[in-house]
Amino acid sequence: MNTECFIEPSRQLPVIATDVFIAGAGTSGFIAAIAAARNGANVVLVEKLPVPGGTLTNGGIGFNAYYSQETKEGPHSRRIVGGLPYELTQRLEKTGFSTGFTFLEDDHYHIPYRFMADHEAFKAVASEMLMESGVRVLLQTFLANVVYEGKTIKAAIIENKDGRCAVVAKQYIDATGDGDIARIMGLQQLDLWQDYDKVCGGPTGLVFGMAGIDYEKAVRENAGAFRVLSKKSASDADHLSMERYTLAHAMNPSRYPGLNSLDINYFTSFQGLHKGEATYINNSKAPKIDAVKTEDYSLAELTMRSRIMKIAIALRKEVPGFEQAYLNWASVQLGVRASRITLCDHMMSQQEISDATRFDDEIGLYAFHDFAPKHEELFTVPPGFYGLPYRMLLPVGADNLFMTGRSVTFDINAHMSTRNTVCCMIMGQGAGTAAALCARKDIPSRNLNYSELRDALVNGCVILD
Ligand SMILES: Cc1cc2nc3c(=O)[nH]c(=O)nc-3n(C[C@H](O)[C@H](O)[C@H](O)COP(=O)(O)OP(=O)(O)OC[C@H]3O[C@@H](n4cnc5c(N)ncnc54)[C@H](O)[C@@H]3O)c2cc1C
Repeated sequence: MNTECFIEPSRQLPVIATDVFIAGAGTSGFIAAIAAARNGANVVLVEKLPVPGGTLTNGGIGFNAYYSQETKEGPHSRRIVGGLPYELTQRLEKTGFSTGFTFLEDDHYHIPYRFMADHEAFKAVASEMLMESGVRVLLQTFLANVVYEGKTIKAAIIENKDGRCAVVAKQYIDATGDGDIARIMGLQQLDLWQDYDKVCGGPTGLVFGMAGIDYEKAVRENAGAFRVLSKKSASDADHLSMERYTLAHAMNPSRYPGLNSLDINYFTSFQGLHKGEATYINNSKAPKIDAVKTEDYSLAELTMRSRIMKIAIALRKEVPGFEQAYLNWASVQLGVRASRITLCDHMMSQQEISDATRFDDEIGLYAFHDFAPKHEELFTVPPGFYGLPYRMLLPVGADNLFMTGRSVTFDINAHMSTRNTVCCMIMGQGAGTAAALCARKDIPSRNLNYSELRDALVNGCVILD
């Protein structure tokens, strides 16, 4: 970065006045916007990409998860997530482009019912929900700056084809995943990406898909290396299949030399929603980068575009059953699991997750843990779920800003739970609802009466008991 300074001339900007401003229409942001609008707020939502959905559209792949963990001691798993995240599944199910809630026997995450959908159907349904809600959506629009005085944000400066503009709101939600608003305000942030490097090979990944696969042949002719993890073929026309396979290419270096020469995960995992399709391939370990450094991110993105093609070529060449397979999609942008984490009034810890801790200001309940199958002690004790407190959304040093999604929770093990898509959506509904109530009363986020928030959440079908 050049150290010389250039002074940008000041200029007058057009103003959009609103109640709630949200940066990022990703997994948590689009839900936050709908929740705020349904609670009576005027909402402006900006997104730098041309589609809503963020990492759920571009790599998140699974809707993890809506049910509590099965525990040896019982009680049995039950659905603990309602509200907008659940409404989304019901709408997706109606389209016929989802698996519905599918029972997975002996699931190693101990969550028996799982849900998946086609990425294109998800984009369509998310778009419909946004249009119905009356949220003012500005796509291909970048949050460029915020103007603040002390702990209070006065305006968000956005930029798009129309030029630069100031959005003057009462409440702001940072749903950028990277904590962009918090960074501009100079709030305390911590880097989590190095921890991801240590525990799972890096914070980024580019999810892609292939079609034209003969799975029966792959299982038959790859002698033990290509395994079925679970297989629930579609039982009726209204649902898609949920078939999961894994290829242990690293354990067979002489058999799969091309795949092993690529810097990819130890196993390649495939999830098929359609016959002969690996709808989601999530093995593409990406270069170890700090994803908020644009030049590093750009190089990683370019590297991964090239690498997924090389993976596809190696699969075709080396894996019986893949001879006719071809790349049929890749996510629009390199996915990021963790970057800057913003310090909030409460930072969830793994201990709280393991202990099934409940709080007196909950915005939702959650259970799924990505790491627990490998580290049993990370599973939650009975009843198999934990609470998410309102305080985890409130950044230290800001009075009218909420954080959501993967940009909260610094404990790497706890983040392996809270960063998952459904948890991000729960936070989105909590933040959007609270922002609307605070805007209505024109009060700082910490002055919101919890019983009022709780009533609004319950009204929005959020499960809190
Ligand atoms: C490769 C990969 C695989 C994963 N697999 C799973 C899985 O199987 N199951 C699961 O539950 N979770 C999975 N996750 C995790 C999960 O998808 C994410 O943690 C979650 O979707 C993050 O949601 P979010 O709302 O915090 O951020 P995002 O969904 O990333 O949304 C942030 C949005 O903000 C926008 N934005 C950023 N900066 C700006 C700006 N300055 N101006 C305007 N817009 C901006 C972005 O474009 C984006 O749309 C995966 C993640 C990755 C990377």
